[in-house]
Amino acid sequence: FDVTELARIEVARTRPEPWRVAPIIAGEASGGEVETARNPATGDEIGKVVLASQADVETALAAARPWAAVVGERAKILNRAADLYEENFGSLFALIATEAGKTLPDAVAELREAVDFLRYYAARAGELVDGPRGIFTCISPWNFPLAIFSGQIAAALAAGNGVLAKPAETTPAIAAWGVRLMHQAGVPRTALQLLPGPGRVVGAALTSDARISGVAFTGSTATARHIQRAMADNLAPGTPLIAETGGLNAMIVDSTALPEQAIRDIVASSFQSAGQRCSALRCLYVQEDIADTIREMLIGAMDELALGDPWHLSTDVGPVITAQARDEITAYVDAAEADGRLIHRLTVPQTGTFVAPALIAVGGIADLEREVFGPVLHLATFKARDLDRVVADVNATGYGLTFGLHTRIDDRVQKIADAVHAGNIYANRNQIGAIVGSQPFGGEGLSGTGPKAGGPHYLARFTRRPAQVQD
Ligand code: NAD
Repeated sequence: FDVTELARIEVARTRPEPWRVAPIIAGEASGGEVETARNPATGDEIGKVVLASQADVETALAAARPWAAVVGERAKILNRAADLYEENFGSLFALIATEAGKTLPDAVAELREAVDFLRYYAARAGELVDGPRGIFTCISPWNFPLAIFSGQIAAALAAGNGVLAKPAETTPAIAAWGVRLMHQAGVPRTALQLLPGPGRVVGAALTSDARISGVAFTGSTATARHIQRAMADNLAPGTPLIAETGGLNAMIVDSTALPEQAIRDIVASSFQSAGQRCSALRCLYVQEDIADTIREMLIGAMDELALGDPWHLSTDVGPVITAQARDEITAYVDAAEADGRLIHRLTVPQTGTFVAPALIAVGGIADLEREVFGPVLHLATFKARDLDRVVADVNATGYGLTFGLHTRIDDRVQKIADAVHAGNIYANRNQIGAIVGSQPFGGEGLSGTGPKAGGPHYLARFTRRPAQVQD
């Protein structure tokens, strides 16, 4: 990114403007409770959030309309929104770093992805053969508060639907910026409304009202199950739920792997974004013959990680999202330490919600009871003859989001890729990232319904008779 942007960021940093975010609806918002938002790195107050009241939800539902503009006009407006996102990079960086605690490289990647989603769905909207479904509820997580939020909305709008957007509790300001820019670009208010508030109240209302004709959701598998039940009880049968959910992601490093490359990719996959990525590596399997070397190198590489304020360009690992997340993850690592399974743990800054990156010994992925959404990596070893069992154990988790493999045996890559159930498989590289358009992202099994976001079949799910295809 260029120096001018950095300068703008610096200005925003030294004179942070307190913000106030409220429901953005096509009508008068009454507003409910007011909450204080805090910067996870410092604990400082950064703004106020007026939550949507029950009356606001009702007003928004009553006012919601599909987007009547013809497809070419919709595409033009979504592209204009992408332009506005780019013009507002400085302010959006500032928000992503202060509200979500993301490092600058992570914030840059997030903005690029958000812009790519807007342009990609705009470009493909002309290929749709069927009309919009009606009104979509879009529910997003805090860990990609702009990219996933904007991607869901852009797809629903590109197909001509109206959208009721429910952002994550902890990132309403980023969401409000996105909505304002989309409105400024020309999306009508009746076609896009924002309802900040708790998932179990506002999210629940927006997934159980008969006026909703589809739900796009990204978040945990447990929440997806709640939503599925609410939809089954209240909405017309066949109402689509497009869900992108959690993962228990593994990587295999065999004895032919290049250790330096593997270490760099393991560290990036486990600890970037403080491990708060659905794609993050959770369980590393290293072949026994090289396990001692990899373990020592990994500990050394962890010691090099700089923890701290996401604003500093040198920071590798920022805070986790809330004090509650910090306490839960820390308790999990403490329990592993008490059991004698902790291999290594860094120390953390005393302010804010930091969690020390940790390495924990396990027998295999079956020992992981749940997705621990933070900078915690589990390490297992395997014997060469047990490779098939490792793959079977990974599949047996029922999740299927990302999977990584480091090997120099060419036909092993294909063999394992064929055997592993995962939406995204990465060979000899880190296991993060997706490229809108060319490397779409999504999971199987407990990790999501598909089709993959940023892929050719995603948009059709937002129309009346989607093609029965998967990517
Ligand atoms: P979460 O499930 O707690 O919350 C996600 C969203 O659902 C939030 O907006 C929340 O308010 C809302 N919600 C909560 N309860 C609800 C209910 N009963 N009805 C309707 N909405 C409700 O998840 P999170 O903590 O925000 O995000 C982290 C999770 O998201 C992790 O499991 C991660 O793996 C997953 N994730 C998956 C992907 C993917 O592409 N597969 C991407 C990012 C995050």
